[in-house]
Amino acid sequence: AAKGGGRGQYRFFSSELKDGARLRRQIEEDLRDAIQTDQLELNYQPIVRTSDHNVTCLEALVRWNHPERGWISPAEFVPVAEETNLINSLGEWVMRRACEEATAWPETLRVAVNVSAIQFSGTDVPKVVKAALDKTGLNPARLELEITESVFLGDPQGTGAMLKALKKMGVRLALDDFGTGYSSLGYLSSAPLDKIKIDRSFVSGLNEEDNNNAAIITAIVSLARALKMETVAEGVEAMDELATVTQLGASHIQGYIFSKALSQQALLERLEQGGLKFDPEGPAKH
Ligand code: C2E
Ligand code: MG
Ligand code: MG
Ligand code: MG
Repeated sequence: AAKGGGRGQYRFFSSELKDGARLRRQIEEDLRDAIQTDQLELNYQPIVRTSDHNVTCLEALVRWNHPERGWISPAEFVPVAEETNLINSLGEWVMRRACEEATAWPETLRVAVNVSAIQFSGTDVPKVVKAALDKTGLNPARLELEITESVFLGDPQGTGAMLKALKKMGVRLALDDFGTGYSSLGYLSSAPLDKIKIDRSFVSGLNEEDNNNAAIITAIVSLARALKMETVAEGVEAMDELATVTQLGASHIQGYIFSKALSQQALLERLEQGGLKFDPEGPAKH
């Protein structure tokens, strides 16, 4: 970047942009290999029942150990995969691995798998799910799919049919990051949902004096109850947040206060030693 203002700045900016594009292309290329060469793994984050803090479900979260860059966050590579067809093969890999690993858990535990909205427009999701269930022998009732509000934007009829087919197979459906998307309430009555996950943005910093977010959580909880759906408060980190979401009636809780996502091995050890019950660990431990 040279002195002389405008021109130098422009050059600086355009080379940044190029680097950004190059980085994305590199991630895309490397991710293609990663799916085939076992650089990916799943970690599992407990979701506990509010009433007794027993784990009922674990959310599969994909992790990428890149040979040169080390661990890369899914927040970084899932969007790149979504811009290409890679999300479909990534999604198939995740589905298969999650079902396989869940067969080693106690039968009372479900596994939750994130499915990108792009997968609903690019692939036959029920077919992918059925293949994974058949191959691994996992009971469909132990599988939950996490979808986001954006799935209802693309092709509402096609998506609706796939969701119904999944329900018919016995798989459960959860609406992830609720409240951050396009929030049309129509699909809450038409889509066969079992669970609403209240986005972390309504939970973080929550305490007894926070009336706005508390009012939103109260409304979501009461809506969900009327529709016979469970609610999960996402991203609970602090004792104040735990106390408040408990008092507001969320039926389930997920967050660092109970546990970060664990490797399969760490999870199995934890279940063996501590059973299903998780104790709050206090804030900022991870
Ligand atoms: P998500 O589905 O909403 O997952 C929850 C994210 O919040 C996870 O981040 C989790 O580690 C993080 N989290 C959980 N508890 C807390 C907490 O108490 N505090 C804070 N600050 N964060 C918490 P992660 O693993 O980095 O995943 C980010 C996003 O990447 C996920 O958000 C999901 O949208 C996407 N993702 C992850 N794995 C997959 C996958 O296998 N397939 C697809 N399509 N997307 C995935
Ligand atoms: Mg999720
Ligand atoms: Mg979420
Ligand atoms: Mg989220």
